[in-house]
Amino acid sequence: MRIVVLAGGIGGARFLRGLMSAAPDADITVIGNTGDDIHLFGLKVCPDLDTVMYTLGGGIHEEQGWGRPDETFTVKEELAAYGVGPEWFGLGDRDFATHIVRTQMIGAGYPLSAVTEALCARWQPGVRLLPMTDDRVETHVLIDDPDGEGRKAVHFQEYWVRLRASVPAHAVVPVGADQAKPAPGVLEAIADADVVLFPPSNPVVSVGTILAVPGVREAIADAGVPVVGLSPIVGDAPVRGMADKVLAAVGVESTAAAVAKHYGSGLLDGWLVDTVDAGTVGEVEAAGIRCRAIPLMMTDLKATVAMAAEALALAEEVRG
Ligand code: GDP
Ligand code: CA
Repeated sequence: MRIVVLAGGIGGARFLRGLMSAAPDADITVIGNTGDDIHLFGLKVCPDLDTVMYTLGGGIHEEQGWGRPDETFTVKEELAAYGVGPEWFGLGDRDFATHIVRTQMIGAGYPLSAVTEALCARWQPGVRLLPMTDDRVETHVLIDDPDGEGRKAVHFQEYWVRLRASVPAHAVVPVGADQAKPAPGVLEAIADADVVLFPPSNPVVSVGTILAVPGVREAIADAGVPVVGLSPIVGDAPVRGMADKVLAAVGVESTAAAVAKHYGSGLLDGWLVDTVDAGTVGEVEAAGIRCRAIPLMMTDLKATVAMAAEALALAEEVRG
């Protein structure tokens, strides 16, 4: 079975770990969000691609969900001693090496997809990890200008990591997405897929950004295969992080049902909500999306495998 998964960082990576156990013989292609990418200290950092690669490759800091375990921060401290920031973005010494290799290869002319493949040769994530695009896309968030009248756009990482999404987001813009082309292999993987899954990743700045690359949404809708998603919103709040803030920016309520309707029945065939949201199943089904309520907390591998198995079962059910 060929499965395509549109993944952000932590939610996507943890779900993928369960999916690989639930479907050990499946051929899994992950289309990773690159809208979170940022240039820091002259280096290209791809947080979501790296979270997937490290998680599936056994190199993730488990509790944190991003970065490497056993990190030291010598380089960062030395940069700070020169007055060179930003200090708010956590880059450990081990992690730095990944970004150095990536930046070096990009400088030598390799596209991000080739670079990602080269990095994965070390980590062996067990899936085919593709960036959504080789072109530069940067998610920006429109906020009130703290230094004056009016509004200003900040990089998504500045909004998320430095500001902790503590100020209202008026708009979320994947800058460059409209000009971006899907990376080699992306549209082919979708066309060849038997199932497409949306893990419980952020619907706006992870899955939404991938869908903003021209051709991706259309390819999924045209593939004629079951598309099943899992809600990142449980009990009307994100399980982790501040997804409610960016959902508000696009006018979507922070409920499992509202997220399903945001994707819409033109894209989504099936949707899993948590058992605490069982009361919304009828609302989702009324919107033309098959819906089931099951436990959706990725507390451990066993729970995550069960979620992935339910997603695949729902896919078979809607295939009919
Ligand atoms: P990011 O790029 O690191 O922010 O990660 P993703 O976009 O892939 O996933 C973030 C989303 O995962 C957040 O909106 C969380 O609510 C959701 N999430 C994290 N852990 C869980 C979990 O155990 N269950 C569910 N249902 N969602 C989760
Ligand atoms: Ca992310």
